[in-house]
Amino acid sequence: MADVQANKAPLLEVSGLVAGYGGASILNGVSFTLSAGASLALLGRNGAGKSTLIASIMGLTERHAGRVLLSGVDVTGLRPDQRATHAAGAVGWVPQERNIFKSLTVEENLTAIARPGPWTVARVFQLFPQLEGRRNNLGSQLSGGEQQLLAIGRALMLNPALLLLDEPLEGLAPLIAAQVLEVVRRLIRDEGLSAIVVEQHARKVLEITDQAIILERGGIVHAASSIDLLRRPDELDAHLGVGGR
Ligand code: ATP
Ligand code: MG
Repeated sequence: MADVQANKAPLLEVSGLVAGYGGASILNGVSFTLSAGASLALLGRNGAGKSTLIASIMGLTERHAGRVLLSGVDVTGLRPDQRATHAAGAVGWVPQERNIFKSLTVEENLTAIARPGPWTVARVFQLFPQLEGRRNNLGSQLSGGEQQLLAIGRALMLNPALLLLDEPLEGLAPLIAAQVLEVVRRLIRDEGLSAIVVEQHARKVLEITDQAIILERGGIVHAASSIDLLRRPDELDAHLGVGGR
């Protein structure tokens, strides 16, 4: 089919990635692509290598083989900060441990690593009204849920082409978790932001993403559209246990 899109490089291409820590490989040849505007659920049990894959996309692990391309540009040799601000597609990363700046205020957290673009402090406050009321509070004074919102807001201030969210709902009370999930849904569905969302609660994230991959022992054991995987409780059960919760 003569399709303009067909000639366009995907936003993210991970090919044959072997990576890990201290000489040991955790990822054993991971390959997948993500188109601009698409979202991916990254699933797998504890220790499967989800965070290692996210960290490897950022360039934070030891790479033994394989490549990472952003919009067709090979960024494999680039440092994490260079990937975070790359012209071919800045990558915003919300790590599993959130690591916001605890000794800076909410507003300082947002402006510390900003890049110009549609996301501004005002727009982040529009998305997270409860952060606005706390703009002069220190990061350390926020609740876990507020810290998660701030971590997402801070990543948005990079005006990323790709957002990486590592277990954004982990450790949050149900009401706050629901609010964070709704924010992620809006970013993906309404704002059209490309994102990879790591989640233990498979069903929740499958409902808001386009594609899904399941990792097991550092390799992809299942790849499908999110909607198809939602209809496969057997696959969810086999790879994640208890119907993916
Ligand atoms: P979880 O759901 O618990 O967050 P995960 O799928 O994110 O798990 P990873 O954190 O990527 O899994 O861990 C994969 C493997 O890599 C595990 O065996 C873990 O012990 C190991 N690992 C993770 N981080 C490091 C590190 N900094 N140094 C050495 N080994 C690590
Ligand atoms: Mg993890």
